[in-house]
Amino acid sequence: MSSSAPARLGAVEPKLAFDHVTRRYNGVSAVDALSLQIDEGSFVALVGTSGSGKSSLLRLVNRLDRPDFGKVLIDGCDVATIDPIVLRRSVGYVFQNIGLFPHMTVAENIGIVPRLAGRAPADVAAALAQVELPANYADRYPAQLSGGQQQRVGIARALAGEGKLLLMDEPFGALDPVTRDRLGSTVQALHETLGLTTILVTHDMAEALLLADRVVVMAQGQIVADATPREMIAGLAGPGADPLIAIPRKQAERLGRLAQ
Ligand code: ADP
Ligand code: MG
Repeated sequence: MSSSAPARLGAVEPKLAFDHVTRRYNGVSAVDALSLQIDEGSFVALVGTSGSGKSSLLRLVNRLDRPDFGKVLIDGCDVATIDPIVLRRSVGYVFQNIGLFPHMTVAENIGIVPRLAGRAPADVAAALAQVELPANYADRYPAQLSGGQQQRVGIARALAGEGKLLLMDEPFGALDPVTRDRLGSTVQALHETLGLTTILVTHDMAEALLLADRVVVMAQGQIVADATPREMIAGLAGPGADPLIAIPRKQAERLGRLAQ
């Protein structure tokens, strides 16, 4: 562990740690002296209104961007010291706009991570089965799939590096509620069976409460609440969570009354 990393005596290294991380754009801090530790195996939802710094924070993990100050550590290792190719193979990243290569087949999209890393080709059929898609989709192009199916391929591609850290930046943003729900269940199952550490960025607090075991709320580049879903819904997470929790709580009360 580096000397400036937060000491956690008697505990294993967190899977991912942000240590006083700042990222400024044009003099304004998108991420502002933020510290956060994420334990191996946890499923963290990162929630906040648009512009709160969620994507900026995520981009620092696999070196799509770099902090102005502070460090990002994976298994206690500063990502600035890890080769970006190795890093991106070991950190699965799922994008909001799906980001499949349109001129490549499903198989080629899934195979790109192992290929860039100089590894054996991915077992495409197994990768597709993992995300509940039939093997014969391998030769299709992204445009021949629905939005939900495309994002399943995006998840399969993120997992093809066989990394244990999965980052998802509003992966369900463009999808209808039924498809969102199904994909959420798939991700939850993959998280469990593969023993992943998962960070899901979403602006949907209800989705965060239902999928994650820890909800971290960001505002203006800082963490303003950090609690379990149960604590959040019980109003125990502090005032930082109030604006976001008010809506699902009201909905839950109304639905509860309707169901009586
Ligand atoms: P979120 O993902 O929570 O919506 P972002 O991380 O995208 O928030 O943005 C946080 C802030 O940083 C916003 O004010 C945004 O305009 C700014 N920002 C993000 N990326 C850039 C960039 N590449 N150049 C300039 N400003 C940026
Ligand atoms: Mg964003």
